[in-house]
Amino acid sequence: MRNMKKIIIALDGYSSCGKSTMAKELAKEIGYTYIDTGAMYRAIALYSMRNGIIQNNSIDTDKLQLAMADIHISFVRNPETGRWETYLNGENVEKEIRTMEVANQVSPVAALGFVRKAMVAQQQEMGKAKGVILDGRDVGTVIFPDAELKIFLTARPEVRAQRRLKESLAKGEKVTYEEVLKNLQERDHKDTTRAEGPLKKAEDAIELDNSDMTVEEQQAWLLAQFNQVITK
Ligand code: C5P
Repeated sequence: MRNMKKIIIALDGYSSCGKSTMAKELAKEIGYTYIDTGAMYRAIALYSMRNGIIQNNSIDTDKLQLAMADIHISFVRNPETGRWETYLNGENVEKEIRTMEVANQVSPVAALGFVRKAMVAQQQEMGKAKGVILDGRDVGTVIFPDAELKIFLTARPEVRAQRRLKESLAKGEKVTYEEVLKNLQERDHKDTTRAEGPLKKAEDAIELDNSDMTVEEQQAWLLAQFNQVITK
């Protein structure tokens, strides 16, 4: 693997399609850096909730714009698990950014032009050395339109809600199937209809509906796509 050419892998798609599971596993297998672009928007939402920038479901955009200079997000690989974890101003927030409260606030934050501009610039910087896999909504369209491998992931909403519910319950969160489905549908709507960086399939992305695939099948499929590109 060491002498192979390094590429950029863009993995975009709807919420809770299993993008991060696929991306993390592939990153581990091929020794690539994993960049979870959604985690960055989640971290900004968390910061905003903690600092009175988001109150009663409304964002004080002026305050957030001023705060942007004080928000530093990074990814650190946990040596014990081999997993990349999200840090906000030096604090590990990996667990906190995955709660339903954050999920309910993140899409309006991610729709703000100045937030996207700042995040896209950081993501481009993080990925420019290649040998990276990024997952998100606008990786193949905005962040790296020249990525060598682009995947667009979909799955039926009910399947996605079931997967997310299972994950949340396993973490001890008290949520219902209906709440999860509602959150996914609202985020899908906001993510696909916003003016900047909306979720859409890049023309040259390979589409995969993984509703009826096991995790192992998805892994094998993704690895095959990767091998095809690097041996070209
Ligand atoms: O992927 P994840 O569900 O963690 O993303 C959380 C939210 O961040 C999405 O619902 C979307 O609003 C936003 N996002 C985005 N652009 C990305 C990644 C995520 O707008 N590249």
